[in-house]
Amino acid sequence: MSTNCIFCKIVSGEIPSQKVYSDEWVTAFRDIHPVAPTHILIVPNKHIASVNEIEPDDETRMGHMLTVARKLAEEENIYQTGYRLIVNSGPHAGQEVFHLHMHLLGGQKMRYPMG
Ligand code: 5GP
Ligand code: ZN
Repeated sequence: MSTNCIFCKIVSGEIPSQKVYSDEWVTAFRDIHPVAPTHILIVPNKHIASVNEIEPDDETRMGHMLTVARKLAEEENIYQTGYRLIVNSGPHAGQEVFHLHMHLLGGQKMRYPMG
């Protein structure tokens, strides 16, 4: 746990959130400012600041985030219509919270172009 990290505090329950899933590896909760009908953030329970800080030991954890995304997409009924998974990393991507997270967006047609 990183002392001043808002997502570490959400994982530990110190800061409230609308949690939709948690297990020993990851926690998922609704984004406070949703930009789509479904907007969930999936985070590793371990503090990893960004994709730049991923270590080889984290591979199982990272893969598990995708398995959880798939399961939540099914629960949110966006499994068939489709959804977008986004991991922003660093300033050019607009990363605001430096605890790695995957956005799960769905429930409306996503806009293009990306980038
Ligand atoms: P980023 O731009 O870093 O990829 O996205 C950070 C996301 O975290 C934003 O979509 C923002 O709305 C969300 N967020 C920031 N603070 C909180 C919070 O305290 N609670 C929740 N649930 N979401 C947050
Ligand atoms: Zn953290």
